[in-house]
Amino acid sequence: MVIVMAVDATDEDITAVVNVVSSAGGRAFVSRGLNRTIIGLVGDVDLFDSLNLVALPGVADVMRISAPYKLVSREHHPERSTVRVGGVSIGPETVTLIAGPCAVETPAQTLEAALMARAAGATLLRGGAYKPRTSPYAFQGLGVDGLRILADVRDKTGLPIVTEVVDAADVPVVAEYADMLQVGTRNMQNFPLLQAVGDARRPVMLKRGMSATIEEWLMAAEYIAQRGNLEIVLCERGIRTFETSTRNTLDIAAVPVAQRLSHLPVIVDPSHSGGRRDLVLPLARAAIAAGADGIIVDVHPHPETALCDGPQALVDEDVPRLAEAVSVMAAAVGRPVTGVPALAVS
Ligand code: PEP
Ligand code: MN
Repeated sequence: MVIVMAVDATDEDITAVVNVVSSAGGRAFVSRGLNRTIIGLVGDVDLFDSLNLVALPGVADVMRISAPYKLVSREHHPERSTVRVGGVSIGPETVTLIAGPCAVETPAQTLEAALMARAAGATLLRGGAYKPRTSPYAFQGLGVDGLRILADVRDKTGLPIVTEVVDAADVPVVAEYADMLQVGTRNMQNFPLLQAVGDARRPVMLKRGMSATIEEWLMAAEYIAQRGNLEIVLCERGIRTFETSTRNTLDIAAVPVAQRLSHLPVIVDPSHSGGRRDLVLPLARAAIAAGADGIIVDVHPHPETALCDGPQALVDEDVPRLAEAVSVMAAAVGRPVTGVPALAVS
């Protein structure tokens, strides 16, 4: 059950609801959002019904939600949500393109990749400063130096930054520089990290765990929402299957399924799904055709020397081809590509 508090509800109203629920033997989880507070209830739903909670001061609505995830469910919020990242919208009205290097390597490489991204119509820049690598011997990212490079490139290009955080302890510093925090596939069930990004006042991109069901993915999003942060974008990035010709298998059905179950925007990463440059365009087209609210792709000025994921990075002529494919497919599904916000253009 979920209680939606009125916009003008006071702290006393919230405490009163929590007390009524606790005295009835239930547990109340308070999620303080930017605009309003939501209280998730766990316990005997019939008993909660008998408490007539809707009559308490400051309570706007009381909803019964059957899904195990509450705040991110469409039962709680029937309209699909739009998440704003540094003035750029990701949601059902448009298709948003996010592009950039897999990893931040040098200031010049990051700037060049950002200019490629912008030329392709991207309105958000991706790039990892903290890289979760399978091998401890692989490039682990530049850390805070990488965040500074991203901030500098944002100043030069006007593109807000999406960057990964891999450790709960790093959330404050990453949130200081980033416009959107990315939680990667390997950390989808790192619950302390999910809670830490839930506490940060930054939008979050939550990638699907490579072996996670859609329900597990939405439960992970619920960890973030439960801390009061509902600015979450889900990202399908391919799952592990028996198939070895591609790096992962893009689960295209996950897009409409997750959108039906959750109000959160759903985007697709065709680069990490296929793991191959030649698959990025077809997978990007498929994603937009399936209704994805955006795509996130790797671009690199010199993929042959890239320190991470060079084989899947778009380069040179691939970039205008992607731009063309995105605009044609977005038009085919009747959704304009998200434009660069006027204030952010430099
Ligand atoms: C990435 O986007 O850089 C990344 C590591 O992706 P994933 O977590 O999907 O593997
Ligand atoms: Mn990568």
